[in-house]
Amino acid sequence: LPASFQTARPIIEKLEQNRHKAFFVGGCVRDLLLNRPMGDIDIATSATPAAIQRIFEKVIPVGIQHGTVIVRWGNESYEVTTFRTDGEYSDNRHPDDVQFIDNVEQDLERRDFTINALAMDKQGDIIDLFQGREDLKAKTIRTVGDGEQRFREDSLRIARALRFSSQLGFTIHPDTLSAMKKVKDDMELLAVERLANEMEKLFAGTYLHTGISYLKETGVCMHLPVIKNHPWVIDRLPASLQPLHTLGEVFALFHLLEQKIDADVWVKAWKCSNKIKNQAKLLIGAYHYFLTYGADRWLAYRLDSDNQEGFVRLANSLSPDRGLSMDHLTSMTGNLPIQSTREMDINGREIAEMFPAKKQGPWLKQLIESVEKMIVMGQLKNSKSEIKEWIKWNPPEQD
Ligand code: ATP
Ligand code: MG
Repeated sequence: LPASFQTARPIIEKLEQNRHKAFFVGGCVRDLLLNRPMGDIDIATSATPAAIQRIFEKVIPVGIQHGTVIVRWGNESYEVTTFRTDGEYSDNRHPDDVQFIDNVEQDLERRDFTINALAMDKQGDIIDLFQGREDLKAKTIRTVGDGEQRFREDSLRIARALRFSSQLGFTIHPDTLSAMKKVKDDMELLAVERLANEMEKLFAGTYLHTGISYLKETGVCMHLPVIKNHPWVIDRLPASLQPLHTLGEVFALFHLLEQKIDADVWVKAWKCSNKIKNQAKLLIGAYHYFLTYGADRWLAYRLDSDNQEGFVRLANSLSPDRGLSMDHLTSMTGNLPIQSTREMDINGREIAEMFPAKKQGPWLKQLIESVEKMIVMGQLKNSKSEIKEWIKWNPPEQD
C-alpha cells in the first residue's frame, strides 16, 4: 500500500482491536485503483461516534448526527464515518434519519456512484458489490441502484456526476445520464454552498471540456445561480479554456465573457467569501489592463505571487494567442523597487497633509496608486522628497 495508506493504517487497526470493523472507503480507494493523486483518506467503521471518541485521544466532532468525526493521528486528519443508511434528504443538505448499522455492505449501498462505492481493508483487499472496478476500467460513471431514485434522494449527486466526469474524463452511463436530465429541476432547492463546492471541482477538472459538454447536454447549466439568467454564456466558453483552480478565477471568467454578469451579484448568489470576491475583481481588472498594456511590471506587481498563476490560466483561456507564461510574469517581479504599498517612502497621511484644504475622497487613493505605479515602473524614485516634488507638479483636481 502507498505511504499515505500506511500512515492511516493504525486507525483501522485500533478500531479492529476494539472489536469494530473498519475500511478505507470512497474516493481514496477509487483514486488508488486509478493510480491518480488522491485527496483525503476516508475511513468507514462499525464503531459509533461515541465509541470512536473513547478509542482515540484527539477527535473533532464535525458531524456527529450523521456519524462523521475527524480523528487526528500523527499530523494528519482523517474523516471517520460510522456505517449508516440514509433516509430522505428533505432539507437538501443532510439525510433526515440516519441509521447507524453494523455492516459495510449496506453502507456502500447508500453511496452515489459505483466507482465511489468501493471499500478496502488494511491488507488492500477490495470489497466491490456493484462492479465498481469494472466501471473504473470502462471509465463509466454509474449510480449505485436506480439513477432517478438516487438523484431524487439528493440532487447534488447530479452535480457530482458532472464533476467526476470533469476530473476523471469518464463517460456517464446512458441510464444515469437520462436520470440526470429527468431530475435536474430538483437542483433548484439545493444549498448553494454544496453546489459551489462541486462547481469549483468541475472547473478545475483535468477533463474540463468533458464536464462542460455534459453540463450543456443535461441542461444543468440552467439551474446554476446567475448562469441561468445568462444562458448563452455557457456557449461562449472558449475551446482554449484551461482548468481553473479557484472560484474567483471562474467568476472572473464569466464576467469577462459576459459583462452583464457582475462579480457582486455572483458572490451573493453563490454565497462566496469576500476573499473570492476580491480575487475575482483583481483578476478582472488585471485582464483589462493586460489587454491594453500587456504583461508589464505593474501587472505582475498588482497580481502579486498569490494571483499570478491564476491570472496566467485565465489569460491563456481567453487570449491564447498572447501566450502569456508564468516565467514572463516572474521575470517582471524580479528587481522591483518595492514589493508592496507599505514599502513606499511616503504614506497616505503625508500626502493628505500636502493638501490641507481638500476634503477626504477617492482622490487620495487614486493619487497613491499613480505614485505607486510610477515607482514600480521605474519612472519615479522611491524617495519622499522626489515623490513630493512629483505630486506638486501633478496635483489632484480641484474639488
Ligand atoms: P474527492 O477526491 O474529491 O474527495 P470523493 O469521492 O472522496 O472525492 P467526497 O465528497 O469526499 O468525494 O465523498 C466521499 C465519499 O462519500 C464518496 O466517494 C461517496 O462514496 C460518498 N458520498 C459523498 N457525497 C455523497 C452523496 N451526496 N450521496 C451519496 N454518496 C456520497
Ligand atoms: Mg474525499
